[in-house]
Amino acid sequence: MAARILDGKSLAAQLRTEVKRKVADLARGGLRPGLAVVLAGDDPASRVYVRNKVAACEETGIRSERHEFPGAVAEDTLLQKIAALNADPAVHGILVQLPLPRQIDAHKVLEAVSPEKDVDGFHAANLGALVAGAPGQVPCTPAGVMRLIEHAGVPLAGGRAVVIGRSTIVGKPLALLLLQKDATVTICHSKTKELGMVARQADILVAALGRANFITADMVKPGACVIDVGINRLPDGRLAGDVDFARVSQVAGWITPVPGGVGPMTIALLLENCLRAATA
Ligand code: NAD
Repeated sequence: MAARILDGKSLAAQLRTEVKRKVADLARGGLRPGLAVVLAGDDPASRVYVRNKVAACEETGIRSERHEFPGAVAEDTLLQKIAALNADPAVHGILVQLPLPRQIDAHKVLEAVSPEKDVDGFHAANLGALVAGAPGQVPCTPAGVMRLIEHAGVPLAGGRAVVIGRSTIVGKPLALLLLQKDATVTICHSKTKELGMVARQADILVAALGRANFITADMVKPGACVIDVGINRLPDGRLAGDVDFARVSQVAGWITPVPGGVGPMTIALLLENCLRAATA
């Protein structure tokens, strides 16, 4: 039987409508949420991501401003800009688009963002809050994945979740969120042995490794919920996820498509985080 599709595009559209309504309410009270995006260098993928994020802000009424720097920018210049944005009361959210140019210490720059304005949830204070189960900004992609899973009614408590990928942006925070919902969580990475055997035990399998079509049908337990976070550009220019969608969708119980799964949810959750930062 073919898997049910977890339609991130449609759920994200619902969330965006809700954000738009709340932004309009705030505007009536004289408050307009504002997001500042900092972009350094000319990575084409980063430019597309920033364009999409700014467009989503405009659509929902969130004010956005873009601060662009050449690839050779000095770290101090970025730190000064972030200090100015931290102090600006019209800016509620600050997003530093990654990756940063090689000469920049990304950790230092992310830590310079005020935790209250850290709408990406990458600051150590927010990641620490996530570990502690305390309130804070949660990274957008993992938060979006959780919303998709919960909206579909996929059972989590007591289930076995396997997250492939241990980045601070996706894999690690997502593992913590699944744990908060009482899943039994395993994190896999590039050094994991017998990955297929581990993956096959998962009731919820998350692929966040950035390898096109890596997850094949034989790695998936029949009926599992398969979440594909990967975005990979194939040599012919098409986009592919980390999951072999055509075959895995014949085995899985639920599956996210690429595009139209996790990607739109990431942007919707960024908008929600901006709203939260403006009203905190
Ligand atoms: P990353 O490169 O920081 O981390 C990749 C992780 O995968 C690492 O922990 C590594 O150990 C693991 N890995 C690599 N090869 C592996 C292998 N052969 N077997 C097992 N584990 C392996 O990447 P990231 O920033 O976490 O992103 C992962 C993917 O998700 C990328 O394709 C990225 O483009 C995509 N992404 C999508 C969204 C979205 O909104 N849909 C957001 C962020 C990232």
